[in-house]
Amino acid sequence: ATMPPLLSAIALAGRHGVLVKSAVVMEHLADTEVVAFDKTGTLTEGHPRVVDVRPIGDACTEEVLRLAAGAEHPSEHPVGAAVRAAAQDHGLPVPAATDFTSVPGRGVRAVVDGRQVAVGSPVLLDDRPPTAADPAVAQARAVAADAQATGHTAVVVIVDGASVGVLTLADRIRADAATTVTALTRLTGARPMLLTGDNPGAAGHLAAEAGISDVHAGLLPQDKVDRVRAAQTDGRRVLLVGDGVNDAPALAAADLGVAMGRGGSDLALQSSDAVLVRDDLAALPTAIALSRRARRLVK
Ligand code: ADP
Ligand code: MG
Repeated sequence: ATMPPLLSAIALAGRHGVLVKSAVVMEHLADTEVVAFDKTGTLTEGHPRVVDVRPIGDACTEEVLRLAAGAEHPSEHPVGAAVRAAAQDHGLPVPAATDFTSVPGRGVRAVVDGRQVAVGSPVLLDDRPPTAADPAVAQARAVAADAQATGHTAVVVIVDGASVGVLTLADRIRADAATTVTALTRLTGARPMLLTGDNPGAAGHLAAEAGISDVHAGLLPQDKVDRVRAAQTDGRRVLLVGDGVNDAPALAAADLGVAMGRGGSDLALQSSDAVLVRDDLAALPTAIALSRRARRLVK
């Protein structure tokens, strides 16, 4: 017997590294009108490195890194892994953390050596009461702003309510990001979009490299959902590619959610309609082309 076109398309997509979870998904891939990408781990390799540590006030580099790595110890976020790696590179033993909490899209908090440590986006500096101007906060903001302006991710380290350091992180764009964006645009006319929790500077630099002009930064998980829904106006069909726990709600909200298979979190994989099993972005336009061909054969 000959296989129905949608099933043979699923088999072929599988060979190209796309796990398409159902025939309905295979059929609708070709309807994509907007392609939204997460940044970290999706358009980038997702293995950021700490490229600069800037102590503030009396703090020293080692102490900033040690306390930050302690607070990040239980973190599953790529920023957490980068901070731990930086501490290790400096030969610093990482202290244990208690009372760990992670704030999605913001950072982590924990008690390290009996001190309250917060590590996360400079937005954390706004959480404090608007007291008289604190020079350490102003300095942390300025250092973070410089890092962000050059396309980096900046993370502030706050110990017992006082800013003690700023870490600058760099991540690499995936080799196939720009060619995939071009291929998708050519193939479908779909509008590419970037949705990220990272800062506008880092988002803008990456978007320019990837060839995306519709950029939305500083988004919390629910903001990503809202952006997907806004893009769905007039029934436009939105495909979202993401990898993080933070992307799971948006993957579910999109008409088609595509998760990164290798670097993707379990929650992203579960919330998706298709998986790029080898984290190979270029397989996405291939899957859409297969969807089109299968539909011509079905009709
Ligand atoms: P993206 O949408 O690009 O995948 P996230 O929403 O996961 O990014 O994170 C957004 C920002 O929140 C990061 O750029 C970082 O500033 C901060 N952040 C998130 N998790 C952590 C963490 N474990 N440690 C420090 N900062 C974090
Ligand atoms: Mg991500």
